[in-house]
Amino acid sequence: MRVGIGYDSHKFVPGRPLILGGQTIPFDKGLAGHSDADAVAHALIDAILGAAAAGNIGSLFPDSDPRWQGADSLALLRAAYQEVRDRGLVFHQADITVIIERPQLGPHTAAMAQALAGALGAEAGTISIKAKTNEGMGFIGRGEGVAVMAVATLELS
Ligand code: MG
Repeated sequence: MRVGIGYDSHKFVPGRPLILGGQTIPFDKGLAGHSDADAVAHALIDAILGAAAAGNIGSLFPDSDPRWQGADSLALLRAAYQEVRDRGLVFHQADITVIIERPQLGPHTAAMAQALAGALGAEAGTISIKAKTNEGMGFIGRGEGVAVMAVATLELS
């Protein structure tokens, strides 16, 4: 069994859709980023890459590369998982915490888990997504951005 940890944060900006866990979530702002800025997918990517000692999202998909401009982060997750499988490892489970003041993600977490698991060829029940606020504190509390933590385990295939 291998364990990896991932973290990501993105800033809210006007004029972009809010995409988290592959879902477009109704809100008046989106997240800034080179790709679709899906911080949930990005944290999970870093967790599975970390568990495989296979680098990180920035080394696989540098934001200086125009190929990843506006990229669908579920496609990046699939590509990262191929790197993991090439090292003889398979996804086992993940636990993800999204720290966001607004909007409430509760109604979306099941669809997010299903989408992320689908990209990994896994059952939705292998991915846990929990959302919480930062109790009004700091940049998250002020609604300036979102942060995500993820832990993932892999097994030898
Ligand atoms: Mg990111």
